[in-house]
Amino acid sequence: MTAATATPVMKQHLIDPEICIRCNTCEETCPIDAITHDANNYVVDPEICNSCMACVPPCPTGAIDNWLQVLTSEAYSKDEQFSWDVLPEAKELPAELIDTDVAAETETGRAPVSGEDDTESLEGVPSTEAGARIPPWSAVHPYVNLYTHKNVATATVVGNYRVTDEDTESDIHHIVLDFGTLPFPVLEGQSIAIFPPGTDANGRAYHARQYSIASPRDGERPKYNNLSITVKRVTTDYDGNPVNGVCSNYLCDLQKNDTVKVIGPFGNTFLMPNLAHANIIMICTGTGSAPMRAMTERCRRLTKNREYNGKLMLFFGARTERELPYFGPLMNLPKDFIDINLALSRAPEQPKRYVQDLIRERAADVLNLLDDAETYIYVCGLKGMEVGVIEALQEVVSSGGKHWPDVHAQLKAQGRLHFETY
Ligand code: FAD
Repeated sequence: MTAATATPVMKQHLIDPEICIRCNTCEETCPIDAITHDANNYVVDPEICNSCMACVPPCPTGAIDNWLQVLTSEAYSKDEQFSWDVLPEAKELPAELIDTDVAAETETGRAPVSGEDDTESLEGVPSTEAGARIPPWSAVHPYVNLYTHKNVATATVVGNYRVTDEDTESDIHHIVLDFGTLPFPVLEGQSIAIFPPGTDANGRAYHARQYSIASPRDGERPKYNNLSITVKRVTTDYDGNPVNGVCSNYLCDLQKNDTVKVIGPFGNTFLMPNLAHANIIMICTGTGSAPMRAMTERCRRLTKNREYNGKLMLFFGARTERELPYFGPLMNLPKDFIDINLALSRAPEQPKRYVQDLIRERAADVLNLLDDAETYIYVCGLKGMEVGVIEALQEVVSSGGKHWPDVHAQLKAQGRLHFETY
């Protein structure tokens, strides 16, 4: 039993199955492993959760932020939560047992934040996370959750192109979605989620999948109300077994003029600095290039008007050049605009190289950039890259005679180190 069993009433933390897009962020963020999932739902174990709130800010949809006052002896178990399609209604509790503070918070769907200070060490940054929970100080304030499950936006496909070579295994598409006259303001680094049509084996509508926006804030085509995403067709699971990814295959097969159901935008921390002289270090693999393309293109457009003069440094990993999305356009960018470092792990007759190898090779330049308080680092791609990148940064910083834990904590506290991995 939890400490909460000492009191007859508890504020139970629940995840709304109708809104959750199963992105796994909460499970990854929870410092005490209170969140878990099955094929159906993400759930919070009432025996473990201590309401530390670490999972709440990173949740892209707000599905995580639900709190129900219940009798402690009747707290919903994990198994009950696994079976839910919707959150249960609040039950009436004996008046003498109701904690009025909790009741007020529960009505607004918002949990008390008093526990936050206990778990956070440095200006609001929990020590367990690799990246910042706050955006750069100069970032433009983003719109989030403008469209939700109850208010879905419709976009029209105006382009769908393969951006990896035809004869490679890696089928990655650049898909352009137009919102017509529907307001859908976004910033580089944000994402959207898309509902694939149809239902799963249990007859439930498929949940939405999240995709990073690959175009800048003023549109894939400047001054148009459109945006692009970069989608990899999933044909094998993480273990290499054949599988037909529901949403990625749906998206990669879309035709011009098809319509899609979109919610979002999401994300309020993985945002670029809004400062002419800020430097950006981008580290990515595969479709992790999407937000980097958005940021690079934003800077390229600004540079044309002499509104950006910072340094851009890109570390981009893929198996071969031909599997590198946007390879052609990327290599056409002027060398004095962006410093491109390609890490190829299966290039013929070349040793395997990963992004972390190149970060180490370029240690002196990375260090130089990090000395500037207006240098920001963004990492995006498969989850597995996080550890290698952090280790490489740690080595680089240590080689410069600095104490990595201090530098790391400062980067997080100043919103200068960001991860988006999936
Ligand atoms: P599902 O039907 O959900 O899964 C089928 C099987 O494939 C499952 O076993 C699953 O575990 C496995 N699987 C899922 N994804 C992968 C993968 N990438 N590689 C190997 N196996 C996988 N995807 C993009 O293509 N581009 C993006 O820009 C992008 N941005 C994202 C941003 C965020 C914040 C998050 C959380 C995810 C992002 N994703 C992105 C992943 C995307 O949301 C989907 O998970 C992905 O497209 C697979 O969905 P699916 O419906 O095709 O596969």
